Amino acid sequence: MKFDYSQNKLHDYLECPRRFELRYLLQRIWPAVHTEPVLELEEQINNGKIFHLMAQQYFSGINPDVILLQVENVKISTWWKAFLTFAESYNNLPHQSEVMISSKINNKSFMGVFDLLVYSPGEKITIIDWKTNHNRPSRKNLEQHIQTRLYPLLLISGGKQWNNNNKIKPDQIEMIYWFANYPDEPQSFLYSEQQFQTDLIFIQDLINQIETTKSGEFPLTTNQKRCDFCNYRSLCGRGSKPGSTLELDNLDLEYLYEEIEEIDMNQIGDIAF
Ligand code: SF4
Repeated sequence: MKFDYSQNKLHDYLECPRRFELRYLLQRIWPAVHTEPVLELEEQINNGKIFHLMAQQYFSGINPDVILLQVENVKISTWWKAFLTFAESYNNLPHQSEVMISSKINNKSFMGVFDLLVYSPGEKITIIDWKTNHNRPSRKNLEQHIQTRLYPLLLISGGKQWNNNNKIKPDQIEMIYWFANYPDEPQSFLYSEQQFQTDLIFIQDLINQIETTKSGEFPLTTNQKRCDFCNYRSLCGRGSKPGSTLELDNLDLEYLYEEIEEIDMNQIGDIAF
């Protein structure tokens, strides 16, 4: 079976190897409420999806005023105004939004989606990610996060088309997280050869661990708090009551969105505004 690794899959493995096994290797469907209140979670998911679509429309050249006419939601309108201030300078540079990239790293297949890629071939290449979380994760948290470690690797191994067909060097890459609820506090990470080598080893070790674990031997997380937000909790005997949305870690809420309803930009045009 062809298996593409992604940041979501590796994130799940790091959170709980058993969840990774159940979800991606065994493809076990186990419906359960992830968090409460359910309606609040649904609203957050929907707002995040709509915002990502609006950002994509903006970088496709659609007039921002026309885009805004599609929404009546006050929260999204506020995000939008702040977004335009941030996004304007990037819109004047060569860019591509919702970039799906797949490539081999140490002979394994990986894939990812960049919200926005801004590129000056031979010079700087910036990956930008929009976050609509309630909270802003700490810099340390973001720095160690799998997305921050995997996306530059993906770009180096599979992104030469944005660099005059030359392999991208680590020090050309910047990764920026922009937070809709904290628009004046984006976090930027400049990549380096040293970080590249560290991340390569980290990812390779992770894949080795996964691929040498026998079926049925993926351990359950020792951090049982994570089970409160996992749909497999009754299957694992880790309780039946969902956790509260407010208690979720900053980044985890976003993973929950994506797990529940993957943002498929080919279908997202069907969202009712
Ligand atoms: S319920 Fe807990 S142990 Fe079971 S898969 Fe989910 S996180 Fe892992």
